[in-house]
Amino acid sequence: MSTDSIDTALLERLAAGVRDIPDYPSPGILFKDITPLLADPDLFAASVAALAAAHGPGSGAEVDLVAGIEARGFIFGAGVALALGVGFVPIRKKGKLPNATVSAEYTLEYGTAVIEVHEDAVSPGQRVLLLDDVLATGGTAEAAAGLLERVGAQVVSVSFLAELGFLNGRERLVGRDVKSLLNF
Ligand code: AMP
Repeated sequence: MSTDSIDTALLERLAAGVRDIPDYPSPGILFKDITPLLADPDLFAASVAALAAAHGPGSGAEVDLVAGIEARGFIFGAGVALALGVGFVPIRKKGKLPNATVSAEYTLEYGTAVIEVHEDAVSPGQRVLLLDDVLATGGTAEAAAGLLERVGAQVVSVSFLAELGFLNGRERLVGRDVKSLLNF
């Protein structure tokens, strides 16, 4: 990631805003809980600013839209869209979007899940930044990026607040520009 320009002390403060919840939602999973970071206005603002910075004016990686993955991807995605002055596209769990959708089924640790996007969410060739809070195995982001491309997007980057490097989620996103502020 291009965290070179982000202050190390800030990254440490951001990391301290993410707490570990063992055995949630099931035994053996170490859940990264971002709610302390969200509750701190300075950390929340700094994380959104840092995620947006790589795609700001003059970055060479400007985007037309930000897409966020339900539910925690909405929090950062909406903030980054506002920071960049572009629109926001929600990628939602099956059955939540009211208009015509395209959908993708993907594999989770146990079983499968389905996510959807409105088929008219993106105009052909629009440049989209895809955002989620945590990159774990990468299946969710891989499916979401594929969905965006099926509705005409050019996915410029897939960005996360944090990645769980030991799960090698980047392998599911090979060939894509993948960024995360924090690596646990
Ligand atoms: P993935 O395995 O990359 O498809 O992750 C699935 C979704 O679950 C992502 O939207 C993550 O935000 C979330 N997620 C998966 N594992 C964790 C974890 N250990 N802590 C927090 N969120 C997680």
